[in-house]
Amino acid sequence: MPETPEQSAADRFDTVLIANRGEIAARIQRACRELGLKTVAICSEADRQAPYGKTADSFLCIGPSTAAKSYLNQDAILLAARLAGAGAIHPGYGFLSENAAFADAVEKAGLTFIGPTASSIATMGDKISAKRAMMMAGVPCVPGPDTALPDEPATIERIALEIGYPVIIKAAGGGGGRGMRVVPKADLLHEAIALTREEARKAFGSPSLYMEKFLEHPRHIEIQVICDDHGNAVWLGHRDCSMQRRHQKVVEEAPAAGIAPDIIQPVGLACAEACLQIGYRGVGTFEFLYEDGAFYFIEMNTRLQVEHPVTELTSGVDIVQAQIRAAQGHVLDLTQGDVTCEGHSFECRINAEDPETFLPSAGVVTHLALPAGPGIRVDTHIHAGYKVSPYYDSLIAKLIVHAPTRAEAMARMREALAGTEVEGISTNIPFLRALFEDGAFAQGETDIHYLEQWLKLRRAA
Ligand code: ADP
Repeated sequence: MPETPEQSAADRFDTVLIANRGEIAARIQRACRELGLKTVAICSEADRQAPYGKTADSFLCIGPSTAAKSYLNQDAILLAARLAGAGAIHPGYGFLSENAAFADAVEKAGLTFIGPTASSIATMGDKISAKRAMMMAGVPCVPGPDTALPDEPATIERIALEIGYPVIIKAAGGGGGRGMRVVPKADLLHEAIALTREEARKAFGSPSLYMEKFLEHPRHIEIQVICDDHGNAVWLGHRDCSMQRRHQKVVEEAPAAGIAPDIIQPVGLACAEACLQIGYRGVGTFEFLYEDGAFYFIEMNTRLQVEHPVTELTSGVDIVQAQIRAAQGHVLDLTQGDVTCEGHSFECRINAEDPETFLPSAGVVTHLALPAGPGIRVDTHIHAGYKVSPYYDSLIAKLIVHAPTRAEAMARMREALAGTEVEGISTNIPFLRALFEDGAFAQGETDIHYLEQWLKLRRAA
């Protein structure tokens, strides 16, 4: 008798190497253990004291503190997987999570990469090919061509006029909020292109650029998807991540406030359909700008995201477990009709940084008190005595709340923030407390520029 997908899935792997650090390494380890899988934790020299190292089945130091020599060292990670007998690698977010060459190397080593195929990562990692794939799949995109900008000045000018100023010039290989330039009017066009092209060449190794309409007051709304290897894809509702400083998300919520189901529904369905068209596997996020009632695709993240917990709390789906099960080859155990989103959730990113200057703050946590109670979740790897090192991202914890309504979730977050104490290092907690007292934020539907404007006003006061 031929094996069913469920029978063969169980054999695919029983040990997972977690190629990451910090809160997400702890989160993935929990998901693996709950699924009965063994874990291999890795660390750099700076992270030898990581608590998830103690609870892993194996714990290997793979290199020096600088990420380039440890968490980004593909050969060292593959060697660790071989030594520890791992059958799969979970890349988490950041580091190698969206590196198509790494996904390919993992599969070539006979291991499972817990994520989409290398070719999906490559298609979505190039913003022009991603836009083209989304346009073909019927996902609404920002007005502008799905091709790279040509060299002839006259053609470029014509494209800008057709789109209409202001336009934005973006690097096809850009990421992390870099490699973009807004052009308000025609006489600044060529200089902006020359500067962005040079930047793109240096930072992303490719001078390829494209142009699209610059939306002036959008919100950042994203859609979480999960797919299996058997032609099933569902979307798990939406999130609003408009509270950004320097294009970095600070607070996220689910669902996005004030968006009627009949407006979001077709977009969510188009995302799930697009996944099927491109043969996508695992979890992913479609990011959109939303302005005047319309959605415009900007990019797809082909990995687990920092803000996945707000969707977990509203949908009741354990996204990390679902991701691992999809990589094992299991059939998705929910259909679109099963997905219901209840209540409202907020996530605050707690960073080791000065609350006024936002400069990173390293050192030993001398005292830690974390909030607890109904509807409160804390994802973290730190404890009293933990040494926050200066080598990595400053995220030390995520504080997540869930309540029946947005107003109740805000009140719950205020209480949770009041009950969070971190001493020995500076954190952005005072800033988050002030933000959750803000009237316009409480009203909801603020745009992506709101936080920067709010900070400017606060400084001026
Ligand atoms: P990255 O990969 O660097 O994060 P994105 O394409 O996701 O780049 O864009 C990052 C941010 O830049 C968006 O959240 C938004 O704030 C801004 N942005 C990008 N494209 C546009 C656009 N067409 N109009 C207005 N703002 C944009």
